[in-house]
Amino acid sequence: MEQKHSFIGELAGNPVGRFVIVIVVLGFLASVLNVLFRSRKIQPNGFRWKAIRNEICFIAIGTAFNGFLLGGLTNLLNRYHLIKFNTAPAAWYVVLGEYALAFALFDTWFYWWHRLMHVEPVYTLVHKIHHFSISPNVLTTLSVNPLESLINGGFTPLFTAVFTLHQQSMPFIYTTTILMGLYVHSGYEFLPRWWNKSWLTKWFITATFHDQHHKYFRWNFGGYTTVWDRICGTMRPKYEADFDLTKAQGSRVVAPAN
Ligand SMILES: [Zn+2]
Ligand SMILES: [Zn+2]
Repeated sequence: MEQKHSFIGELAGNPVGRFVIVIVVLGFLASVLNVLFRSRKIQPNGFRWKAIRNEICFIAIGTAFNGFLLGGLTNLLNRYHLIKFNTAPAAWYVVLGEYALAFALFDTWFYWWHRLMHVEPVYTLVHKIHHFSISPNVLTTLSVNPLESLINGGFTPLFTAVFTLHQQSMPFIYTTTILMGLYVHSGYEFLPRWWNKSWLTKWFITATFHDQHHKYFRWNFGGYTTVWDRICGTMRPKYEADFDLTKAQGSRVVAPAN
């Protein structure tokens, strides 16, 4: 048992090992989704081997360079003791408040950087790699230019340098980032039909929302919520109607191009 741990630890300690772990985990996840949830596929005919092959290459490049950029930023902030955590126990409502603050600020950070990333030459230099898949899959989550990883991933080290959060809040913040990234790129819609009809839930994005960003390119820039897209008029007008169609008719629906 202990040997297994040290083997995984050793593997995670170098870029090639990290790449192998990422590909095995994401490949396994993609297979499970394909076997168990085929009827929930958002773009049933969207599979392209070429896109998968390129994404695997981009992930390999990313795992080699992310350590320099994102790791470099975190090390720099740590060197000047700027990243600080409050290790004292916190009440649940304090953790909830800190989580809500991180959630809202990351959503804002992501939306506006994402809008900028769609303007040339920033698009070609930073964001183009991520848009290689028109029909995203779990691999697309990590198929990003290292500069884009620095921008998106840089939020948390900067946020924790500005605000001293309780250590207890951090697992919730990290877990949300990882799960949202995987869910919105999964290519499958798991949320219920009433999601966009409820006043409470329609403000939060779905996999269909981000899937349409990859398919139609010029709409739906939000990372966690639809708020900024609604305010700025960048939410795809047919998003909610297509979400209903997909949920109603399952895998037979192919949304019209717009
Ligand atoms: Zn984009
Ligand atoms: Zn994406």
